[in-house]
Amino acid sequence: MNIVLFGAPGSGKGTQATVLASELNLQVISLGDILRQEVKNESELGKEVKNYMQKGLLVPDQLVARVIEEFISKTNGFILDGFPRTLGQAKTLDEIMQKQKTNIDAVLYFQVDEETIVSRLSNRRVCPDCGYNYHLKNMPPKQEGICDHCQTGLIQRMDDQPDVIIKRWQVFLKESEEIITFYRSKGNLISIDANGEKDDIFKLLKEKLQCKGLYPMKN
Ligand code: AMP
Repeated sequence: MNIVLFGAPGSGKGTQATVLASELNLQVISLGDILRQEVKNESELGKEVKNYMQKGLLVPDQLVARVIEEFISKTNGFILDGFPRTLGQAKTLDEIMQKQKTNIDAVLYFQVDEETIVSRLSNRRVCPDCGYNYHLKNMPPKQEGICDHCQTGLIQRMDDQPDVIIKRWQVFLKESEEIITFYRSKGNLISIDANGEKDDIFKLLKEKLQCKGLYPMKN
């Protein structure tokens, strides 16, 4: 099974991807995580994408397309987090699926309000080592500023600064409509109100997938 998680930055895609992947035994492909790792490694690709990421802009389609194709070709069922983000990428994904003789079973669209996004992203702190995410108010670490899992000092992502959050939201608004129309016309778009708490969102998501026969009823 192949699932796409679509939504604004901070809509909770990454959090739900982890839960869903372990429940359904699928691999998460998070393009943002892949690109951040490239930047950290100071690879050629990392050097090319760093500037876009720092400003909250999208990396050009041709750069991300080959990365995503490489990762998809190595999986046998995935949850895609953060791709596609433009109509061009959605079409590229279709081509990749055709080449692999498979298809996208569902596109879960996480609908959120701007104030939810700003609150979630400005309060987000991440562990640079294990990647675990915290929210300063709703899900703080046990010891202030320290990761519960690996005791590394937490950081704020470079693109979670207030002005960059607004930029990323604007980019999402500009690109999202065409993608939503594209998947709606294909009949595989599933919309979810993602303003609530993590567990409630997962419950909603599970029910919607069960209705489509994409999640076991017993779980
Ligand atoms: P994320 O962690 O998904 O919020 O992504 C962080 C940043 O990585 C974005 O603001 C973009 O600069 C870049 N990025 C992630 N996914 C894509 C994509 N599908 N297309 C272009 N740039 C992307």
